[in-house]
Amino acid sequence: MSTLFIADLHLDDSRPQITTLFERYLASDEVRRADALYILGDLVEAWIGDDDDAELPQRIATATRAVREAGVPVYFMVGNRDFLLGEDYARRAGFELLEDGTVHTLHGRPTLLMHGDVLCTDDTAYQTVRRQVRTPEWKAQILAMPLEARRAFAAKSRAESRAHTGSTMEAIMDVNAGAVAESMRQAGTTRLIHGHTHRPAIHHFKIDGQSAERIVLGDWYEQGSVLRVDADGVELRGLPTG
Ligand code: MN
Repeated sequence: MSTLFIADLHLDDSRPQITTLFERYLASDEVRRADALYILGDLVEAWIGDDDDAELPQRIATATRAVREAGVPVYFMVGNRDFLLGEDYARRAGFELLEDGTVHTLHGRPTLLMHGDVLCTDDTAYQTVRRQVRTPEWKAQILAMPLEARRAFAAKSRAESRAHTGSTMEAIMDVNAGAVAESMRQAGTTRLIHGHTHRPAIHHFKIDGQSAERIVLGDWYEQGSVLRVDADGVELRGLPTG
């Protein structure tokens, strides 16, 4: 039995082939026979609230709910694009919500699960914005806006995010090694799985003399990316759209 991880799908109406790939993958034998499916944030390009009446959130919930109804737990952790996703939608989609930084024991090994953005401590401009927008007051203020106003606000935020990404050095947007070590030390784990940076890889290193592993999930902009964890180890692979 294997445990599956995906993140950074950035599902959006502008990439219908990726939404189709997501639906096909969730209906596959690999998913339906898994121990659990974990979605570690940025499932969608933008989330404007659980009351969004657009088609895409409905399609996603239909796909994930079917996985849950097939007996496979679906864990969901918010990312920086979908941190407004809440309990209402989670109920509809069959998600079990996870806090960023949750530790789950997978096949006998305690594993730290994160979206990954909090590890990018070198990007101080981003971390400042993150602290502002994650407060309950800010979230409540946004969610009180009419849907159309939230759609416009989300489009503006994405444009600003693209401008920031375009003007920030590559190295600054990756995780900080010290932040990684500190998070793993605090969690008491030697394995970390996260997304966010769109730099899929399995990194081996040492923390306080112990062998440690950091697995980075890939994004779904051009194709899919899936991590499979089982008793024998881990496999990180791409999923073609064709
Ligand atoms: Mn992200």
